[in-house]
Amino acid sequence: MRVTSKRKVVVVGGGITGLTAAYYLQQATKHLPIEVIVVEAALRVGGKIQTMRKNGFIIERGPESFVDATGSVKQLATDLGIEHKLIYNNSGRTYVAVGKELFPVPSNLLLGGSPNVTSLMATGLISLSGKIRAVGDLFLPKSQQEDEPIGDFFRRRFGKEVVENLVEPLLAGTFAGDIDHLSIHSMFPQFYQLEKDYRSLIVGMTKQNASMYAQEGATAEQLHYGTFEGGLETLIETLEQALEPGTVVKGTKVEAIEKLKNDKMKITLTSMPPIQADDIIMTTPFNAAKHAFKKYDLMQQVPSMNYATIATVTMAFKKEELQKYQDAINFFVSRNSELAITSCTWSNRKWPGVAPEGYELLRVYIGRVGDEAIVELSDSKIEKTVLADLRKILDLQEKPIFTVVTRWKQAMPQYVVGHEQRLQQLKDELSDAFPHVYLVGSSYEGISMPDCIKQGHKIAQELLNSMIPIGRAQ
Ligand SMILES: Cc1cc2nc3c(=O)[nH]c(=O)nc-3n(C[C@H](O)[C@H](O)[C@H](O)COP(=O)(O)OP(=O)(O)OC[C@H]3O[C@@H](n4cnc5c(N)ncnc54)[C@H](O)[C@@H]3O)c2cc1C
Repeated sequence: MRVTSKRKVVVVGGGITGLTAAYYLQQATKHLPIEVIVVEAALRVGGKIQTMRKNGFIIERGPESFVDATGSVKQLATDLGIEHKLIYNNSGRTYVAVGKELFPVPSNLLLGGSPNVTSLMATGLISLSGKIRAVGDLFLPKSQQEDEPIGDFFRRRFGKEVVENLVEPLLAGTFAGDIDHLSIHSMFPQFYQLEKDYRSLIVGMTKQNASMYAQEGATAEQLHYGTFEGGLETLIETLEQALEPGTVVKGTKVEAIEKLKNDKMKITLTSMPPIQADDIIMTTPFNAAKHAFKKYDLMQQVPSMNYATIATVTMAFKKEELQKYQDAINFFVSRNSELAITSCTWSNRKWPGVAPEGYELLRVYIGRVGDEAIVELSDSKIEKTVLADLRKILDLQEKPIFTVVTRWKQAMPQYVVGHEQRLQQLKDELSDAFPHVYLVGSSYEGISMPDCIKQGHKIAQELLNSMIPIGRAQ
């Protein structure tokens, strides 16, 4: 263990992963000779989390909510003293658009709830023969495969129609990915494990759901979408304020990381002199991390990661404009429809206080892997395309009061089959050459906000455990 006068930990990237790691490190090292610095390329922190507050509307330009299955968000909110600002969604129906019509999704399925066979049988989304095939899951043997594409996994269990009209729309509208390449093991370990443990997914989900409901207090966080009063950026603002003044250096990018003779590392920055570090927590997308080590031919054999390019489009309308589907909070889009959009949420129905009285706030996703050209269009062309789709489904007549288009180029990491082996190869290669550099964040062990918070918290704890002798040295 190296004992220096002051150990410097540099966190690269001020998104939710980096801020969480910096926060937990600083909380635990207040009286230790450890300095934590966050280097952020943009002029603001938060990364993908961006809330716009405009004329009484709260518009999420990036993520809009989270499902806190493991409680990592609640834990962070509690530690920051903003647990009272956590809010969970109003209930409402989720639909899937097939053709020009919306069909309700069988109850509970979205959040991994139990696939009630009665509600599966009642849905108009799937034909009778498709339903009979889906129930085949109860009798089919389990697979011995280590990993496979999400599409193959669910086709094997439930048949083609369930995948086309239910699984693919829900996933494309959430992760913008190609289900024939994304890994079941990395993206949905819970389903992969259900098959291993119970053989049938229907049996497994029913049993697990029963035990989840049996746990006192588990339902609100685990079976609802969550956000914060004032939007997701409330969490970012609170995290930034909780860091010691001067912790975050904004508007400078990490260009390169090199080894120095004194066991430290040199970090070359754009527009600033280089800094030295003892430990580096890299929370940038993988391709930026790979770029920082290009001098060493390190990680260069690992293929670059694919990221989906998408856009979010938010539109405000007068309430009287949106009379159809009064019970809906969102809909996803099957490829068996003529729509360009992939999903749509009535934000004001899902969350209290995001639109003034008398207005509806619709948030739409457009673009997915293999269908990205649309995101390159001008704002007005994107607006026109979205409006044409909404008119087909919702009988809209008027134009929106305002539209906010946000492009997310190469932003949604795609964990394709074999992701975990590649990740291990990457970590092994890096830890041999740079044992004090750690890769965490959405490119690695979970894309969702709760997963990113979990990774940030975990790396802080691991680093702290490795530093304990420094504390004793004082
Ligand atoms: C449109 C969209 C919708 C989403 N919706 C949801 C949702 O509803 N629910 C959910 O749970 N998740 C959602 N996600 C995923 C989730 O928002 C992200 O995975 C998560 O916020 C990523 O956090 P992060 O800190 O790992 O990375 P980022 O937020 O990408 O932060 C990385 C930071 O590193 C900085 N950086 C990059 N390169 C450098 C460099 N060389 N030097 C210094 N700094 C650098 C960047 O500027 C950025 O601030 C969504 C993502 C997108 C794009």
